[in-house]
Amino acid sequence: MTSTYFKESGPSSKNIEPPKKVMAIGAHPDDIEFGAGGTIAKWAQQGSETVFVIMTDGSKGTWNPEADPLELALRRQGEARRAAGTMAPGAAVEFLGWTDGELRHGERAVAQLCHLIRTHQPDVLVAHDPWKRYRLHPDHRAAGFIATDALVAARDPHFLPELGRHHRPRALLLFEADEANHLETLGELALRAKVEALLCHRSQHESSMEINDPADLAEIAGFRQAVREAAERTGAADGAELAEAFHLISEV
Ligand SMILES: [Zn+2]
Repeated sequence: MTSTYFKESGPSSKNIEPPKKVMAIGAHPDDIEFGAGGTIAKWAQQGSETVFVIMTDGSKGTWNPEADPLELALRRQGEARRAAGTMAPGAAVEFLGWTDGELRHGERAVAQLCHLIRTHQPDVLVAHDPWKRYRLHPDHRAAGFIATDALVAARDPHFLPELGRHHRPRALLLFEADEANHLETLGELALRAKVEALLCHRSQHESSMEINDPADLAEIAGFRQAVREAAERTGAADGAELAEAFHLISEV
């Protein structure tokens, strides 16, 4: 089986040393789960501390024109907390509260995230790849650029000195990578945690997971199988059984 991720020679690295503390940054409440949920769960099982940062409130994440955005945002916060606890029990979850669809790459968002990086001091960051081509959703693009700029601001002492002491993570892993160069392999437990975390987002079953009826066990089984097959296809690039792909930047 060939992989769609690695163009010619396969990934150039595999499995970084598990972080002491990882900060995972997503535009919407389910993005981290889709892009890196198995890896986050694996590291948590290996003892990593985890901080989730969710930049927008997810208030536009529905196909129902009658839905109340505030109600949806509150519901999605609850779903995100349950999902975080499923991947990484005891994890911190930070909600930055930008309106869904209106996240902007600019000074305010970079400062917000720089402050969080300096406060939590993660040694590894996980974020959207801002250089992913032909991506339509503006929040994903913005979240990626905010994360990369906040990392640079957080590590350099003369950037935003009013926001606390500088802190340099050792690695940045970008999910939905435009050019993946790195695999994190997953065991069964980590894959299961990813699927269960995704299923915590019940408000997204219809729009993102093709589960029209949450009581339909066949549809849920189909979703579980689709997540497994995606991890198998990714892992096949390196003869691994299950994996998630990233663009790893280790010169931070
Ligand atoms: Zn998203």
